[in-house]
Amino acid sequence: MLPNLRIYHRPESLEEAVRLIRPPAVVPLGGGTVLLPTRDPAVEEVVDLSRLGLTYIQAVENGIRIGATTSLQRLLESPLLMDWTGGYMGLVLRLTASRNLRGQATVGGTVAAGDPENPLLVLLLALDAHLTVYQPEPSYLSLERFLAVRDDLRREGALITELFIPAPSSSRRIGFAHVGRTPRDRPIVCAAACVDVDGEICREVRLALGGVGRHPLRARNAEEFLQGRPLTPENIREAAERAAFSLNPPGDFRGSPEYRRAMAGVLVRRALGEGLGSPE
Ligand SMILES: Cc1cc2nc3c(=O)[nH]c(=O)nc-3n(C[C@H](O)[C@H](O)[C@H](O)COP(=O)(O)OP(=O)(O)OC[C@H]3O[C@@H](n4cnc5c(N)ncnc54)[C@H](O)[C@@H]3O)c2cc1C
Repeated sequence: MLPNLRIYHRPESLEEAVRLIRPPAVVPLGGGTVLLPTRDPAVEEVVDLSRLGLTYIQAVENGIRIGATTSLQRLLESPLLMDWTGGYMGLVLRLTASRNLRGQATVGGTVAAGDPENPLLVLLLALDAHLTVYQPEPSYLSLERFLAVRDDLRREGALITELFIPAPSSSRRIGFAHVGRTPRDRPIVCAAACVDVDGEICREVRLALGGVGRHPLRARNAEEFLQGRPLTPENIREAAERAAFSLNPPGDFRGSPEYRRAMAGVLVRRALGEGLGSPE
C-alpha cells in the first residue's frame, strides 16, 4: 500500500477531479493494480475516478468510444470490439491480465501505466487509437503521441478520460504475434499489424511493437516501405528487417537486446503473415 496516503477523494465531476490532481502528491486512482503496490512515498492523496461517469463502451458512426474507467474485462466482453479486431482483442487482453485483474484494471490506468511490453497497447497502436486527455483543458491526441510524451504529461497531472478506436474499413486485415516464456505468460516481445489493402496493394499500414523500447512504438520505416507495395512474402521479409534494424531494445532476464531485436523481425513477419491470411 501507499505508506504516506492521508486523503481519499471521490469526486463526482470531471472539473473537480482535474482540479484536485497535483502529482506527485495527488494522483488519479483507476483500478489501483499498479498504483497501490508501488509503495510510492510521494503519494499523499488519491483521486478515485469511479464516480465520473467514465465507464462505458459506446459505438458511434466512425468508431468506438471507451470511457477511461471501463474495466479490461468489459472490453473483452464487447462483441463489436472482438468483431472489429478479428478476435485479437480477446487474445491480447488475456495476455495482459488474469480474469481477476481484468475486472479491476481500467483502460485509463493501463494506458497511463504505459508498460513497454503491454500487448493491449500494441494492438491499440496498430488500431490507431486516440485519447482525450485533460491537462487541465481537454485535448485529443494519438496513443502514439501520448506514449512518446507520457512522462511529461503525467508530471503535469494529465487525466485520460476516453479512448477512441476508429471503425475499420472493409478492406482491413489485422494480425498479432508474440513470444513469451510460456504460451500464456505475458509477452516478452509482441507485434501487431493493421493493413488496408486495395486489391493486392497496401494502402495504409500500421505496425506496432512491444518489448523493444521504453514504451510500445510504431515501426514507421517498415510501414513506409510497405505503403503502395503488394503484400508479397518478399516485401513482408524486407519490412520485417527494416522494423528490427533501427531498434535498440533494453535487455533484462527475460530477453537480451539481441533476442528482442531478432524477435521483433520474426514477429512483424508473422503478424503480417496472419494479415495475409497465412499464419506461419
Ligand atoms: C499481479 C499483477 C500482475 C500484472 N501483470 C501484468 C502483465 O502481465 N502485463 C501488464 O502489462 N501489466 C500487468 N500488471 C499491471 C496492471 O495490472 C495493468 O497495467 C493495469 O491495467 C493498470 O490499470 P489500473 O486501472 O489498475 O491502474 P492504476 O493502478 O489505477 O493506475 C496506474 C497509473 O496510472 C495513473 N492513472 C490511473 N488512471 C488514470 C487516468 N484515467 N488518467 C491518467 N492517469 C491515470 C495512476 O495514478 C497510476 O500512476 C500486473 C499487475 C498486477 C498487480
